[in-house]
Amino acid sequence: MKAFSTDDQKHDEHSVAQKFDSEDFRDRLATADKDGRRRWIYPKKVNGRWFRWRTYMSWMLLAIMFAGPFVRINGNPLLLVNVVERRFSILGQIFWPQDAVIFAVAMLVFLTSIIIFTTAFGRLWCGWTCPQTVLMEMVFRKIEYFIEGDAHQQRALDDAPWSARKAAKKLTKHTLFFSLSFVIGNTLLSYIIGSEQLIQIITDDPRNHLGGLSFMLLFTLVFYAIFARFREQACTFICPYGRFQSTMIDENTMVVAYDHKRGEKRGPLHRNQTLEQRQSSGLGDCVNCHQCVVVCPTGIDIRNGTQMECVNCTACIDACDAVMDKVGRPRGLIRFASHNNIERGERQRFTSRMMGYTAVLAALISVFLFLLFTRTDVETTLLRAPGALFMKTADGNIENLYTLKLANKTSRDIPVQLKLENVEGKLQVMGGRDLVVPKEKLAETSVLIEIAPNVLRNRNTKLKVGVYSNGKLLETVNTVFVGPRDGSVGK
Ligand code: SF4
Ligand code: SF4
Repeated sequence: MKAFSTDDQKHDEHSVAQKFDSEDFRDRLATADKDGRRRWIYPKKVNGRWFRWRTYMSWMLLAIMFAGPFVRINGNPLLLVNVVERRFSILGQIFWPQDAVIFAVAMLVFLTSIIIFTTAFGRLWCGWTCPQTVLMEMVFRKIEYFIEGDAHQQRALDDAPWSARKAAKKLTKHTLFFSLSFVIGNTLLSYIIGSEQLIQIITDDPRNHLGGLSFMLLFTLVFYAIFARFREQACTFICPYGRFQSTMIDENTMVVAYDHKRGEKRGPLHRNQTLEQRQSSGLGDCVNCHQCVVVCPTGIDIRNGTQMECVNCTACIDACDAVMDKVGRPRGLIRFASHNNIERGERQRFTSRMMGYTAVLAALISVFLFLLFTRTDVETTLLRAPGALFMKTADGNIENLYTLKLANKTSRDIPVQLKLENVEGKLQVMGGRDLVVPKEKLAETSVLIEIAPNVLRNRNTKLKVGVYSNGKLLETVNTVFVGPRDGSVGK
């Protein structure tokens, strides 16, 4: 081992993090003291290859997140979840309430993918792609480091009495946090109501948009509270995914794990101690420097094993790799590994559980694709007008009045013509034969169908009506035509 001593290492670094007690970690949270009061986490700045990859990944995700509301595919938003007006767009595909089944299957595909991913790779989603972690660690935390310094400087500032310097730092930080929360809140709002409407709210007379402005303020306050105060508590207490992940991981799941076989028995590295001397005294590679603990944004010690609070952010891997480099031991004392990999040296396996989940996912994707590709551009509903009976025309024919609803799911206007498919008769669309359904809108009108009595076989005749656009059949809808009750109909 190289001349690196943890005896000499400044233990103020350790004191910056949790006063970790390996005996009672199961009995209490790292972020709460014995009385249940919040214990503020001051994670130390981290550097290393995993952090670099995470940074690149976060740039990409942040660009997608903030540009998303303004990106259009075929004129439709990349993602829109307008629950108020019940309009949804995913990857430029407009979904309507009538597409609820497709939407539900899409959600099942998403959830199953997360389950499979978690079964194979643990909570990688949390540490690498979750917007909460990306924004916290890659935006807000970096601003905090820039203004208040690294962990021990932050703690010193918090412990110091109020002064002009402290007030200036805190004011600058919280002003930036609040401004960023405003941007994030507006971004979320634009995913709900659309970017055009958001711009209208911002530029129009505020009195016309009191509801929208209230949501803007609410979202801003929520995000400010999360990033300025709640932080890791959101992952530990609020996010349901973190709570049920333990039901998905097993001994073959790859997680951020400490190789206790190699690391134990842990003990400080003394100056000029050789590897042989260390091994002969029963010590492993862990020099008990606590660097993995001081960088952890959730304040845990990964050496206690996989814990609910761990978001797989890999900060402890980078910290430990740096220590291993210094003491001249191989990297990977903390690494991505499964329990079986550490205990038995097994490689990552595709388990029967994963196979089962994958089969379910494949089936769901097939259903989703089938529904998506058989989905029509126009969704038609043709129902008899409520309360209306049949009428007799002057030339003895029977008439029924219908209510027609057409939902255009595309971003182009669609001209529509209707035709009776299975029965001879006349079909008249009120307000003109050529009905144009505006893009992304619902058109509603009345339809009059007239049929000669000798064509009718029963009191209720089943009708098939073809919905055409420029001669192309879009879909066929079924409805019922009501005639007179007397048995003379059709004879
Ligand atoms: S234990 Fe390691 S991977 Fe887990 S949250 Fe803490 S630093 Fe991140
Ligand atoms: S696991 Fe690595 S970083 Fe953590 S205390 Fe041991 S040597 Fe230090």
